[in-house]
Amino acid sequence: MTELLSNYVSGRWQAGTGAGTVLLDPVLGDELVRVDATGLDLPAAFGFARQTGGAALRALGYRERAALLGEIVKVLQANRDAYYEIATANSGTVKNDSAVDIDGAIFTLGQYAKWGAALGDARALRDGDAARLGKEPVFMSQHLQVPTPGVALFINAFNFPSWGLWEKAAPALLSGVPVIVKPGTSTAWLTQRMVRDVVEAGVLPAGALSVICGSSQGLLDALEGFDVLSFTGSAETGAQIRSHDAVTRRSVRVNIEADSLNSAILMPDAAPGSDAFNLLVREVVREMTVKSGQKCTAIRRVMVPEAMFDAAAEAIGAKLAGITVGNPRNESVRMGSLVSRAQLNSVREGLNELKAQAEVLHDGSQQALVDADPAVAACIGPVLLGVRDADVALRVHDLEVFGPVATLMPYRDVDHAVALAHRGQGSLVSSLYGADDAALGRAAVALAASHGRVHVVTPGVAKEQTGHGNVMPMSLHGGPGRAGGGAELGGLRALDFYHRRSAVQASPAVLAALGIQ
Ligand code: NAP
Repeated sequence: MTELLSNYVSGRWQAGTGAGTVLLDPVLGDELVRVDATGLDLPAAFGFARQTGGAALRALGYRERAALLGEIVKVLQANRDAYYEIATANSGTVKNDSAVDIDGAIFTLGQYAKWGAALGDARALRDGDAARLGKEPVFMSQHLQVPTPGVALFINAFNFPSWGLWEKAAPALLSGVPVIVKPGTSTAWLTQRMVRDVVEAGVLPAGALSVICGSSQGLLDALEGFDVLSFTGSAETGAQIRSHDAVTRRSVRVNIEADSLNSAILMPDAAPGSDAFNLLVREVVREMTVKSGQKCTAIRRVMVPEAMFDAAAEAIGAKLAGITVGNPRNESVRMGSLVSRAQLNSVREGLNELKAQAEVLHDGSQQALVDADPAVAACIGPVLLGVRDADVALRVHDLEVFGPVATLMPYRDVDHAVALAHRGQGSLVSSLYGADDAALGRAAVALAASHGRVHVVTPGVAKEQTGHGNVMPMSLHGGPGRAGGGAELGGLRALDFYHRRSAVQASPAVLAALGIQ
């Protein structure tokens, strides 16, 4: 029998009492480890985190908590090789794709450690200037933000077992809020291992970080009014979470990051062969293939001027033809596998649905795999679809196929392209490619209403631009509407979620004694 990974709650390692769920190697089909959360005393676990972990964290100032993030960075860096091995085995990712998850997490933690240090030794944050309440400035209103005295529960998706934990834990711990993470089950190993390393290194106070692997049953029932819940996953599960008593009756604050039909738009000035055209082609191919398209920010819809449809289809298809797919341990492989056979089936089903309204411009779905058995491995090559009338083809604006799949579509003018992007009903990110700054500026503002982030690529920033799908801690991550309405990262703005706003009405002398930063 494979090893059963323990959960870390109430300050100790506790094995589930059930048989557990087996985690698999999605390429070789081997059984790796098991996870199980049966029999845990969740109310006690949440209580311990809330009281013991929360009190210890809040006894520190921002600068001291930022230093703890710095210590976590050191622990993760020291164990990086083990994380890459786990990612290859359990997520089926090639090295570059594992880096997005592992090194992306370390980078994000490091950023928050730096930003947090600048907040100094305060115990609360100033929120704007004091305003006089009467004619004379003798009685004032000062808003401040204080850490919420609850826990932060993270229910995470399978595609980022590392970054998904740390991009949320960095602002939570910096805010003084203890973290309980429940990773997506199929790839929970990496999350559990990272928590294990940090716990063993003894860098955090008891109760500050807990991990529960396996079923989500009972987690939401354990939440109380000052707790917060950050969920990443499908829109369907997000809807179930929103309707839970914890949210509807106990006012638990929730942040939901759900699925998204992100887009890339080629501007009318970017003729085939131009720098901007080539940049779009490169980015679309990258986005379709990084982590086999299992990125919430991946480009799903590519909009190009009508006259450039064929040239774009040809250029993207030519690059996709060079993508080798298979066992990530083989150096010649560019794209590894999906996370499981279940995901492979879901991608195939989604593809069939989209194909009913689209033509296939490049079909890698049947391509030979390198070093992998197609009967076992959860691998599929990239597929580029095309629709000639994007106003009629409805599913492409609605169905997120979570794999290496994108759809090319023509637009008449920029207003039409923006309208098509809006058809995603709220997305995480849209990217623009062109060289006309004024036109790009207008389009960016038009897209901002339905996107959490607009990424504008001009030839002048070709080298410095951070990539359509790369979530940088400096920028907002989240999107309105269908994308879940969440807001993560964006520098210190992320701390808002873990703080409570309050207004203190008092004399200037009392306000001066608040000790706010
Ligand atoms: P999912 O099925 O919704 O699962 C997400 C998490 O919720 C998992 O930990 C899952 O546990 C848990 N869960 C399932 N049912 C639950 C319930 N009734 N109550 C509470 N928790 C429950 O999503 P997924 O398939 O893992 O993730 C893929 C989706 O995530 C994609 O649609 C993708 O777009 C989205 N995503 C969005 C972002 C973003 O930042 N916007 C980032 C990454 C992924 P189990 O694993 O044990 O089922």
